[in-house]
Amino acid sequence: MILKLLRQLNRAYGYAVFGIYLAAFGIAFLFVFIFPPATLALLFISIFGLLFFNVLGFVLRTIEKRWNRARLGKGLCPECGAAALSAVASGSGEIRCGACDARHDAQGAWIKPIVQEPEPVQA
Ligand SMILES: [Zn+2]
Repeated sequence: MILKLLRQLNRAYGYAVFGIYLAAFGIAFLFVFIFPPATLALLFISIFGLLFFNVLGFVLRTIEKRWNRARLGKGLCPECGAAALSAVASGSGEIRCGACDARHDAQGAWIKPIVQEPEPVQA
């Protein structure tokens, strides 16, 4: 449950941070006319916030990777829990689940699936 929540958060993390910054921009834009020093304060908070969000993202990814490694070590897929893991290519450390097709590297990081582009239709 917590791992699923963490996984979803990690996959949407960039969009979430972008949304926070977009909201901060909207608030700062409104404060330009009402109370200009608040805009300046928001600017500096945002700049130092980048460091905070970067570190937070790193910590969240690291926690998920450790959790994934523990499950992979037991021979279970971190995504679906099935015991149908197989190495993609020997030596690469990449592990694929036969049940849900999720792929993880040797460090436990989830590998984004490659979506094949559709063939262009010739008229
Ligand atoms: Zn799976």
